[in-house]
Amino acid sequence: MAQMESRVCATCGAAGMFYGRRDVTRDFEGTPLTVPDVEGWFCNKCGEVEFAESEAAERFFEQATALQQQARNKQGAELRNQQQR
Ligand SMILES: [Zn+2]
Repeated sequence: MAQMESRVCATCGAAGMFYGRRDVTRDFEGTPLTVPDVEGWFCNKCGEVEFAESEAAERFFEQATALQQQARNKQGAELRNQQQR
């Protein structure tokens, strides 16, 4: 018997996870961040991502942290501009 390459989503329980590469958008403290070209398992139902390798997860969080920092800096600059007025 051939074994099906499929996974059950740990978040929503759907069995429809599939392997691929795509841009991943996540909310970090209310700021949507998109990290391009992430490799792993993707859930069609809830959008959950399971990274293929720990390396991919590290890369994702590295980029997410960098993007979050950028967003914070931008917000901080806007706040400072408002206070100066
Ligand atoms: Zn799911």
